Amino acid sequence: MEKLISSLEAENAVNICRQRGMSIGFVPTMGALHQGHAALIKRAKEENEFVICSIFVNPIQFNNPSDFEKYPIRLEEDFAILKSLHCDAVFLPTKEDIYPEEPFTDYDFGSLTKEMEGKFRPGHFEGVAAVIERFFKILNPDKAYFGDKDFQQVAVVQWLVKKHQFATKIIPCETERFENGLAMSSRNFLLSDEDRETASEIYQWMMHCKNEVGKTSPVDLMQNAKTFFSESIALEYATIVDQESLELIQNWSESNKPRAFVAAYLSGVRLIDNLALY
Ligand code: AMP
Repeated sequence: MEKLISSLEAENAVNICRQRGMSIGFVPTMGALHQGHAALIKRAKEENEFVICSIFVNPIQFNNPSDFEKYPIRLEEDFAILKSLHCDAVFLPTKEDIYPEEPFTDYDFGSLTKEMEGKFRPGHFEGVAAVIERFFKILNPDKAYFGDKDFQQVAVVQWLVKKHQFATKIIPCETERFENGLAMSSRNFLLSDEDRETASEIYQWMMHCKNEVGKTSPVDLMQNAKTFFSESIALEYATIVDQESLELIQNWSESNKPRAFVAAYLSGVRLIDNLALY
């Protein structure tokens, strides 16, 4: 597996493959890799002749400095996972390389970022869009793989591709979960076994919503969400939206494709998840 440090190196490596007629698959990550990332890389390997994964903890998408400082870093373990998956190259850029100058972040995502992460993490999606824009300009991949675990992020990236008319096809991939329903996440490395059990309540609430479709209104489910969780879970939001517009729904009749989203803190660790309710 090639380790590419500068964007010039990464661009050259990808260009050589392209000249050879190879298709390029790209999996952007922030490292601390787990089975969720592995699923994306496996899919990329199935669909492309050259797969490049990036590991870059993008500072400008963190609105909370302590969240950034605490973010787990496990490079040696990551390399071992990437090798075992036969990933062809890993791109490990520095902040200076990705942002040689102040990045453009004046995006207007419309309704897509009005709720959930857009509302509770001001500047987050501007940071995500800036880094993905930069990566796509360097690598110009044929396909890029993103997890539905960050569903709102997928919507923002699709918006970005449309706006810039990037040739890259976005491939959304299903959320990988543990048996208890907890979504796999790098942040789980910061949780105790007991916390991981408690954290499954997030999935349980979303499943509860799914069972209540047509019976209890979205408004009531959202308003009563707090009572569903143990005291150790500090709910930030429990929201039901239409998955196309990502706008809140009051009644089930407002959406053919409702989706539940949760953000919650457990032992100071911020977890997010979402589930289709149809
Ligand atoms: P991250 O390293 O958290 O930025 O994630 C990198 C990519 O992996 C993003 O597209 C995430 O949505 C995706 N991802 C993270 N967790 C999961 C999961 N449990 N299942 C599927 N994809 C995931």
